Amino acid sequence: MMLHLGVASTDPIILEQMHALVKKSRDRRDIGLEVLSVPSPGPGQVLIETEAVGLCGSDIHAINGQVGYEWMPERVTLGHEAVGRIVRTGSNVDPARIGNRVVPMAIDGCLECETCLSGAPQLCLERDCLGLSFDGALAQYFVLDADRVFVIDNSLRASVAALIEPAAVAAHAVGQLAVNLRGHRVVVSGPGAVGILSCLFAAAAGADVELVCPEVGPQTRREFAEQLGIKTVYGQRRLAAGPPVDAWIEASGAEAAFSGAVGSLRRGGTLVVVALFARAPALDINQMVRGELRMCGTYGYTRADYSTAHKLLVGWQDRLAPMVSTYQLADFDAAISATEQAAVIKAVVVPESTNKTIARSTKDDLSH
Ligand SMILES: [Zn+2]
Ligand SMILES: [Zn+2]
Repeated sequence: MMLHLGVASTDPIILEQMHALVKKSRDRRDIGLEVLSVPSPGPGQVLIETEAVGLCGSDIHAINGQVGYEWMPERVTLGHEAVGRIVRTGSNVDPARIGNRVVPMAIDGCLECETCLSGAPQLCLERDCLGLSFDGALAQYFVLDADRVFVIDNSLRASVAALIEPAAVAAHAVGQLAVNLRGHRVVVSGPGAVGILSCLFAAAAGADVELVCPEVGPQTRREFAEQLGIKTVYGQRRLAAGPPVDAWIEASGAEAAFSGAVGSLRRGGTLVVVALFARAPALDINQMVRGELRMCGTYGYTRADYSTAHKLLVGWQDRLAPMVSTYQLADFDAAISATEQAAVIKAVVVPESTNKTIARSTKDDLSH
């Protein structure tokens, strides 16, 4: 495919057309690369040149037209776990922001209603998600509201920066528990990115953490968690008797993990559910009532969670780098399959960059 260079009004070289990974209809797996016009930032918006985009479980659910994603537009460019650089600003945005390296707040609210002003934009009735509700970042460029980006440290390599969204989800999930978890036994089920990162946040808060991993399938995720120093449990039935479980974070979306959690928690314990389920799991409500168990859903994040996540990624970037497997945008099919089969922990897609300096720094960045 031929792409044509356009005349840019600002310093960075900006294309007129770009490649984008588009979900084309409601049909299962009806996706493909398309050549689209590079969008123009509207008032209050910025144009971001994409450096890297992580693939998320929700992208896979959307691609497969799974139940619970009917609200999505029929046609949309996917991608929300992104990192990039501001290359153009719309009206009412300070042009000095051009060059800032940013990550999008993928899920965000209207920022005007009572819920948003109280600090919970993830619960806003008008909330939406980049790359699911409107065109996203699995493209060489994307536009977003300027108040919806979070500036990151230049030292953070792109592939690791793409983890900030799942890291913020994990920080928010752990934040549903007591801040001081010292001496608490916390079990996390599901060794995906959110599960592993939840373990790190809970351990940092002083908890004694165990990560329950499935017995079947590739063990890549369990092995990586162990390299990070996380205690792993190979199959839920092997969870050692030990002290009572004070809290459980369910990050797998598997019914067995959910019911196992209800059966394993101490009386008065807390179950935090961060995973979404393809089918509603059965719940032993009497056990919950008699044990005074607390169950709490957790969704998205706040700006404070992004700060917490950013700090973790900056401090841990060398250790977290092997968590990511990178793919070119043209190889999106391989990235999707690897994610579906849990063969990788996090597939990160790197759209080809045309801005020479950005291209060079991104390449160096990702070759670590
Ligand atoms: Zn995500
Ligand atoms: Zn709102």
